[in-house]
Amino acid sequence: MKHRILSIVVVAVVLFAGRAPAAAVLRVVASIPDLADFARHIGGDLVEVQSLATGVEDIHAVPMKPLYAVTLNRADVLLVLGLEAEHAFIPGLLEAARNPKIMRDGPGYIDCSVYVLPLEIPTRIDRSLGDQHPMGNPHYNLDPVRMKDAARAIAEGLARNDMEHEAAYKRNLATYLATLDTAIARWQQEAAPLKGKLLVSYHPDMIYFAERFGMEAVGTIELRAGVDPTPSHIEELEKMMQEQKVTFVVRELHYPAGLAETVAQATGATLVQLPVMAGGLPQTQEYISFIEYNLRTMLDALPKGT
Ligand SMILES: [Zn+2]
Repeated sequence: MKHRILSIVVVAVVLFAGRAPAAAVLRVVASIPDLADFARHIGGDLVEVQSLATGVEDIHAVPMKPLYAVTLNRADVLLVLGLEAEHAFIPGLLEAARNPKIMRDGPGYIDCSVYVLPLEIPTRIDRSLGDQHPMGNPHYNLDPVRMKDAARAIAEGLARNDMEHEAAYKRNLATYLATLDTAIARWQQEAAPLKGKLLVSYHPDMIYFAERFGMEAVGTIELRAGVDPTPSHIEELEKMMQEQKVTFVVRELHYPAGLAETVAQATGATLVQLPVMAGGLPQTQEYISFIEYNLRTMLDALPKGT
């Protein structure tokens, strides 16, 4: 009898101890606010989510703050956009954070690009061509359809690190994807007037957004990703823009305004200023409001009679 009571106590202790970590929330750190917003929707009460970047930065040049290493040291899971988008800060921070769970080969490292089909994959590796997009264009966060693939990767990654709640993550994923699908269907209808319009942006980060909503990104003010413009490049760009009747110059908010304004003025194109991550403006904290804002801004800027 005594033995039996002890067994029950041991079982109870094991059960209790086993339950304790599950009751604790999964600490999720995202590189950018877009992924943090997705993780909040998919993780619900089971996760505590923080983003390193606030959304106003250049994703290729987010400063490595010491506090970020502390945050990563305590993380269970790290979400990255991938395709080397975060090359400027994530590898260095991971080294400083010394957290094996979220190292590149650890269970908590979730590369959200695994199911994403990237555009502009380089056919040859040539460092002289700049090295900001070595795996293809990483700015797929501006495409709400490709972000559904990222959502799947997030749900699977959370479940992999918290198997007990796999069903909840799957359920929340389905709910969020349905919300996103409704928004996408509405956006595609609203975007009709943008169909066939051409745009030039400062950095090659508008290609997915343009394609999704029927536009075409035909050039950049930068010579190449991460390479500053030269006077002869700007001259050629302006000539091409006039010939092809480019409608928009997009100035991403973290780039200087002057040159984008000059190019727009010289070519008769309309200047639009857009954030390229959620959180880039106070009214774009959530992913859906971010895409909504960009689409609305372009529609509102569309020259009359076009
Ligand atoms: Zn880029």
